[in-house]
Amino acid sequence: MKAAVLIDAHNMVIDDVPMPVTGEGEVLLKVDSCGICGTDMEFYENGAYNPRWTLGHECSGMIVEVGPGVKGWKAGERVTVNDLFACGECGFCRRGLGNLCDRAANLGIHWPGAFAEFTKVPARSLFRLPEGVSMEEGALIPTIVVGYHVFRQAAARPDTKTLIIGAGPVGLSVLVALKIAGVRNVVVSDMNPTGKKAAASLGALAVIDPVAEDISERLESLFSSAPDLVFECAGKPATILQSMETVNRGGTVVMVGNCFEEISLIPITWIIKEINIKASQGTTNEDFETVLEWVAEKKLDAAVFITRTISLDELPETMAGLTHGKNDTKIIVKT
Ligand SMILES: [Zn+2]
Ligand SMILES: [Zn+2]
Repeated sequence: MKAAVLIDAHNMVIDDVPMPVTGEGEVLLKVDSCGICGTDMEFYENGAYNPRWTLGHECSGMIVEVGPGVKGWKAGERVTVNDLFACGECGFCRRGLGNLCDRAANLGIHWPGAFAEFTKVPARSLFRLPEGVSMEEGALIPTIVVGYHVFRQAAARPDTKTLIIGAGPVGLSVLVALKIAGVRNVVVSDMNPTGKKAAASLGALAVIDPVAEDISERLESLFSSAPDLVFECAGKPATILQSMETVNRGGTVVMVGNCFEEISLIPITWIIKEINIKASQGTTNEDFETVLEWVAEKKLDAAVFITRTISLDELPETMAGLTHGKNDTKIIVKT
């Protein structure tokens, strides 16, 4: 079958690779669409855990084969996948915390991914796409579910003064979850024009450019105070420090953006304001069920996230181009 193969950092080719063979409890999917995620970019730039690796985890597709022991699924069903495969049996899984599973494995990271014609996944991580939902929208569901899991980390009320730092796919998904929950006062900060436009169309009260404007002054004039809830979705040392600086006394900061760099923080600034710090990791199957209900009830328009659709053949060149700049919210690869 055809697949995008990451030979090494910055070196991806389209190649012919062996078809996956389904084992106990697994199904084979004919991949239809797969979104490019920041995680894919991270591996593209630094190399995957294994050489000659296939990335891609935010996918939709059609079941073509069910492996031994799979019940309740059949060939021809349209699905999306919780790409964080939880074992379903460990202490965390039994408490409904599959995102923290002892034996968690991720599609496209520990399992060969979905930038390919076919991929295999555990049946317990599958979700049916509601009728009327396109495969492209199906591939966006895992991203929106990440945002919903982030949203669940803080108790936002309709009048909570909220700031989202970063209008990438995850920041925008947090905005979607907040708007569906009826939170009115959500301000988004980003300097990327594509992200700013999307945040405005998804119902942000205001969109701040943190380079051109003084963020604290703008927030003060919008809210008449500092925000009580800040979602840090940019993952840069400067924005993490900014989240701690901008949040109100007694407020909550939710750490979301993946930051691999050291930051220098003076803890007393955190203590003196009595800031609650939360974090968000991955997704659970229950999160998927909620977002799929929203999709079925047409509570969200996933299409606003898609800025480009490309073919699998165009992926290596597209990935190389992405290292130079970021003008896209979500690129969907049609396999
Ligand atoms: Zn992702
Ligand atoms: Zn587990």
